[in-house]
Amino acid sequence: MQRQITGFHLDDKNDWVAELSCCHGQHVRHNPPWTNREWVVTEKGREEKLGEWLNCVKCDSGQPADF
Ligand SMILES: [Zn+2]
Repeated sequence: MQRQITGFHLDDKNDWVAELSCCHGQHVRHNPPWTNREWVVTEKGREEKLGEWLNCVKCDSGQPADF
């Protein structure tokens, strides 16, 4: 299900997690060269992604809210 990004936080492993409008978290790791999301490490980059849509597989599988 497509959900909007409402915020970001770091998890206990220092990986970035996008907070979705459905109260699910989704990892948006910057882990080059496999996963390149340079935007996530800067505040400006993250700000620009607020309101963007991500596919939430947790909604599709009916998982409880993360936060
Ligand atoms: Zn969700």
